[in-house]
Amino acid sequence: MQDYQDIIAEILIDETTLQKRVKELGNQISHDYAGQDLLLACVLRGGIVFMVDLMRHVTVPHAIDCMALTSYGVGARASTNIENKNVLLVEDIVDSGYTLFHVIEMLQTRRPKSLKVCALLDKESRREISVPIHYRGFSIPNKFVFGYGLDLDEYYRNLPFIAVVDEAKYQSPAG
Ligand code: IMP
Ligand code: MG
Repeated sequence: MQDYQDIIAEILIDETTLQKRVKELGNQISHDYAGQDLLLACVLRGGIVFMVDLMRHVTVPHAIDCMALTSYGVGARASTNIENKNVLLVEDIVDSGYTLFHVIEMLQTRRPKSLKVCALLDKESRREISVPIHYRGFSIPNKFVFGYGLDLDEYYRNLPFIAVVDEAKYQSPAG
């Protein structure tokens, strides 16, 4: 794998800006769910970095869960029983919206008490299906980004910022 420095076109959201916004979201969520119990559920694998940072700013009592998706998006499984729980779905990025749409559809069949969505990044111009986003970190332009949970062929999820890939320099192992 190439060094990340060799494939970055630009840093779109730096670490300080990112952490400041994650804290704001955590504060807002803590305020909105005051006095209630909460389940934070992330979609693997991209959502985990964001959820781990976010939960440390959520002061209401909460449990966490992670869901794996099949490549068709409809086979999501969460291990926790969510019936009658306040579920907050934590997503890294909403692009076409299909992933989120299918996850919401699946979770609704399990009759949660409430279901809301917290997405770090929103590529609004790419939306093909309408989905609700109750907490939005940043609206971003239609560029392929990586870092902070988001991968390029499964690598670079550890980077503490969101970067735009230089497509001319990045050599995908997939070809
Ligand atoms: P959607 O179903 O089209 O909304 O796509 C959502 C999924 O596509 C995300 O959960 C990501 O895994 C992936 N994705 C979309 N845009 C990007 C990006 O810019 N970088 C990395 N992954 C992305
Ligand atoms: Mg991905």
